[in-house]
Amino acid sequence: MKTNLDEIWKNCLRIIRDNVSNEFLYKSWFEPIRPIKLENQTLTIQVPSQFFYEFLEEHYVTLLKTTIRKEIGAGARLNYSILMDSHTAASTQQPSMDKYQTTNTNVRMPMNMNKDGIENLPNPFIVPGLKKIKIPSQLNENYTFEAFIEGECNRLARSAGMAIAQQPGKTAFNPFFIYSQVGLGKTHLAHAIGLETKKNFPDKIVLYVSAEEFVRQFVDASKRKVSQDFLQFYQMIDVLIIDDIQFFAGKKGTQEVFFQIFNSLHTQGRQLIITSDKTPAELVDFESRVISRLKWGLSADLQLPDIKTRIKILKAKLYKDGIDINNDIVEYLATNITTSVRELEGILISLMAQSSFNKKEITISLAQEMVEKLVKNHKRELSIEFIQKVVCEHLNIPVDKMKISSRKREIVQARQLSMYFSKKLTKNSLTIIGAKCGNKDHATVLHACKVVENLYQTDRKYRNSVDELEKKIAG
Ligand code: ADP
Ligand code: MG
Repeated sequence: MKTNLDEIWKNCLRIIRDNVSNEFLYKSWFEPIRPIKLENQTLTIQVPSQFFYEFLEEHYVTLLKTTIRKEIGAGARLNYSILMDSHTAASTQQPSMDKYQTTNTNVRMPMNMNKDGIENLPNPFIVPGLKKIKIPSQLNENYTFEAFIEGECNRLARSAGMAIAQQPGKTAFNPFFIYSQVGLGKTHLAHAIGLETKKNFPDKIVLYVSAEEFVRQFVDASKRKVSQDFLQFYQMIDVLIIDDIQFFAGKKGTQEVFFQIFNSLHTQGRQLIITSDKTPAELVDFESRVISRLKWGLSADLQLPDIKTRIKILKAKLYKDGIDINNDIVEYLATNITTSVRELEGILISLMAQSSFNKKEITISLAQEMVEKLVKNHKRELSIEFIQKVVCEHLNIPVDKMKISSRKREIVQARQLSMYFSKKLTKNSLTIIGAKCGNKDHATVLHACKVVENLYQTDRKYRNSVDELEKKIAG
C-alpha cells in the first residue's frame, strides 16, 4: 500500500511539474508536500503550515484537483494535513475543491509577501504572468485629503484615514467604518484614503465601489452563474472601499458574499473601508455575523461642522474655483446653512450661477435671497419614526405599543397605517419598514398597504381620516 501511495504521488508530481510554469515554483510549493495516506480515493497530503495550505488552495487548487483525479479516479478527493509549527498534532483541512465546482487559479493576484521587490529573484509567492492585472480604482481625483478640511467634526476619522493610507491593512483600523448623516463627507473621505494609498503604494489594488453597484454586480453574476468569479475578483483587492453599506439591508445573498470577501481580505491583511449612514449596531436587517465583523476595527463618525469649520470649507471652495467673495457673505452663509456640507456647497454653486446668469454681483442681499429659497424649499425629510409618532398620536396609542406583537384592533391599524405611509412617503424598502414596524417581513408590509388602499377606496369616512392624517405627516 505504501509503495502504491508513493508511486501515485510521484506520478502526480510529474504532471504537476509539467504544468507549473517554472522549476522554482515547483520546488517551493510541491517538493515539500508529503503524501500520507490514500483511503477510499481520498489522498491526504501533509503541508508544512497553514499558510502553505492556503497558498496551494488559492493558486493551485485546479491543478491539484485535475491531477489527482487523473491518477486516482473521478471520485478522488484531497485532504490536507497541516504540520503545526509547535510540533504538536497535525490538523486536517478539507480543501475548497470539494465545496466549489470550479476554482479558477488564473485570475489570482500575487500575495505581495516579498516587500523588497527584488526583481530578478523569482518570488514563490507570486504566480508568474498574473502581475499585470489592472483594475481601475474608480476614485474621484477631486476628493483628496487636501480638499477635505479638518475640523473638530472630523478629526478622528480624518487622522485615522491618514494613518490607514500610510499602512493599509496594518493598523488596528480594519475595517475602518465611517458613519454620518448625508452630506457630511463620508464619500469624500473614503476616496481621499484611496487616493492617498495609491500615491504611497502605486502597486496596491485599490477599489471604490458603492454598495448599490456591488449588489448589482453580484445579482448579475449570480444570474449568469459566475458568482465564483465575482468572489475571486473581490478577493484580489488590497484596499476595498464600499460606500453606503446600509444599502445591503435585507439582501441576504449579498451579505453572504460580502461576509466571505470580508473574511478572506481581512485574514490576508488587506484593508476594508466601509461607509454607512448608521453605526454598525444600528443597521437594520443585517445578519448579526456581518454586523459583528463591521465592529471589529474602528468606527468613526463625521459630525456637523461647527461655524469655524464651515467658514474654512467655504473659503477653500471659493479659493479653488478662483472666486472672490466678501467675508461678510461667507460668514452669512456659514451661519445660516447648518445642515450639511453638501448644502453649503449647493448654496455656493447656486449663488455663483445666479450671479453669472443674471450678471449680478454676489451681494449679501443675493445671498439672503438664496438662503431663504433654500430653507423654504427644504422639504422635511420624513422618517419612519416620525410617521409612527404622528400615526400613534392620531389614534391615541403609545408608540411602543405599536411595536409589540398585538392583534388588538387599534394597534394593528396603527401598524398598518405606519407601514402604508412609510411606503408612500419615504424611500425605505419594505423590509426596513417591516423591521421598524413591529419586526414584520416585507410581505406583511405589502399586505398592510393593500388593506389600507382597499379601505381608502371603499370607505369614505376612512378616506377622510387617512387624508387628514397624511396632512399631519407631510404638511
Ligand atoms: P456623504 O457621503 O457623507 O453624503 P459627501 O462625501 O458626498 O458626503 O460630501 C458632500 C460634499 O461635501 C462633497 O462635495 C464633499 O467634497 C464636501 N465635503 C464634505 N466634508 C468636507 C470637508 N471636511 N471639507 C471639504 N469638503 C467637504
Ligand atoms: Mg456618500
